[in-house]
Amino acid sequence: MEFKETYIGRIFYGMRSLLIGLHTTLKEFFTKKVTEQYPENRKTQHISERHRAMLYMPLDENGNNKCIACGLCANTCPNGTIVIKTKTVTDEETGKSKKVLVDYTYDLGSCMYCQLCVNVCPKEAIAFNNHFENAVFDRSKLFIKLNK
Ligand code: SF4
Ligand code: SF4
Repeated sequence: MEFKETYIGRIFYGMRSLLIGLHTTLKEFFTKKVTEQYPENRKTQHISERHRAMLYMPLDENGNNKCIACGLCANTCPNGTIVIKTKTVTDEETGKSKKVLVDYTYDLGSCMYCQLCVNVCPKEAIAFNNHFENAVFDRSKLFIKLNK
């Protein structure tokens, strides 16, 4: 009969197993905590700059959005999340007609944060911010006009 199958052996291995478990418990008791008390820690919470939460239109130095209404982002989006309305105007300097942006609508509810739209934009006119608290009770509030 092997030692671990004897009465004393079973007590020995039982105690050994118990001490291994207690050692792990004790070690974790003194390890720095990583659990976040959200939303209580809202003011001190760090969200990574790279987190993709919601599209927005960064402004240029004159306070205008940089969109040239080319439609590439809307055409690239696999979900039809972006809808762009444009109009054609005549450029006063050149006399040529050009498209300008009227409405840039983004449906946050159907966005899957793939970032294809941002990558394809030739003017860096759209980007993701990291404002992640976007829950609403009414889905219609997820349709957001980005050009203000
Ligand atoms: S991140 Fe992807 S799904 Fe969302 S609007 Fe851009 S292309 Fe569409
Ligand atoms: S956001 Fe960029 S890709 Fe989309 S229409 Fe404007 S310039 Fe074109």
